[in-house]
Amino acid sequence: MRKVVSVVGARPQFIKLSAVSPELRKEYDEVIVHTGQHFDYNMSEQFFEELEIPHPDYNLGISGGSHAVMTGTIMMDIEKVLIQEKPDWLMIYGDTNSTLAAAIAGAKLHIPICHVEAGTRTHSMTNPEEINRVCADHVSTLLLAVTEEDYANLELENLGDRAVIVGNTMYDAFVKNSMKRQPSDFTLTRLDGSGEVSVPEEYYYMTCHREENTNDDESLNGILRAMNSLDAPTIYPVHPRNKQRALRLNEQYGYENVILCEPVGYLESACLVRNAKKIVTDSGGLQTEAFFAEKKCVTVLDFVVWPATMVSNRNELARPNEKDILEKLSHRQIIDPEYKPFGDGHAAKRIVEALLKYDQNR
Ligand code: UDP
Repeated sequence: MRKVVSVVGARPQFIKLSAVSPELRKEYDEVIVHTGQHFDYNMSEQFFEELEIPHPDYNLGISGGSHAVMTGTIMMDIEKVLIQEKPDWLMIYGDTNSTLAAAIAGAKLHIPICHVEAGTRTHSMTNPEEINRVCADHVSTLLLAVTEEDYANLELENLGDRAVIVGNTMYDAFVKNSMKRQPSDFTLTRLDGSGEVSVPEEYYYMTCHREENTNDDESLNGILRAMNSLDAPTIYPVHPRNKQRALRLNEQYGYENVILCEPVGYLESACLVRNAKKIVTDSGGLQTEAFFAEKKCVTVLDFVVWPATMVSNRNELARPNEKDILEKLSHRQIIDPEYKPFGDGHAAKRIVEALLKYDQNR
């Protein structure tokens, strides 16, 4: 069998891998490389356990540092793995520093690269993930796009002849897993270490960790003040990158109506999405999950990640301040049940078909 090296390093990549890996392993030998970018139990290992992802063959243990330090260090170590494994394909996911580092190392070794989630564009080069995804696409051999918009972006960059629309692997994972937990099955671990709390009957679900919103007090405080003033509590699992700031702001301002908690596993997160009143986020993945579950979403970013979700008030952008978030949350969404831009839950199958087709012709 031909060999694929799959490179992952961050939470959303584990979720995508969980959808692709079982399909891939029917036709290819797979070697999993975990770069170590996310390393806490509840940001990494828990996902491998809950989603039954095979244990990584390599864990590079690289995390932290500036963008350049992390990307450069991952590149150096991945190059060694690729030289040793000599794969027929390098599979990369999404838009993290691990994606970029693997792409550059693989391209310079002339290893064919397939990029899962190619073609998403925010058209904002101040967004670090945009730099990663643009560079990764341009050195990749096979571009696996989620939506028609993504495919059109690739065509505009003269990459259309390498691209295929396959659907969204996050949707595959959501379809497969989102009913596996109920709110009564688990508790939330308070961020300040003061114990466990049950999932309230009614709640808003929020995640927020992008540099744009969490690198200064004003933005994060603006978002938390908005959530604090709502008619039901907000559940906010805090990403380790902004834990200290969130704790300090909470001490200073006392957001009584916000449950700041440790990150939850994917099965819990999908359950929280399904049962939430509404969702506020700056995560690419969570916006789409809100859409899958037909929940109103407010995205606190000044660029669109998934244009397909921005219809009929289903997902609206807001500035990181109380007034704008509350206003956008008050808008009613309209659902068209026929509108399904993220595929049919079988993106992984199509990804493997695209690889096989390419291999037959080379
Ligand atoms: N998620 C999770 N636990 C949490 C918060 C989020 O499992 O405590 C899931 C969420 O449901 C989504 C994914 O993590 O599937 C999104 O990852 P993240 O926000 O880290 O990355 P992004 O989507 O912004 O690239």
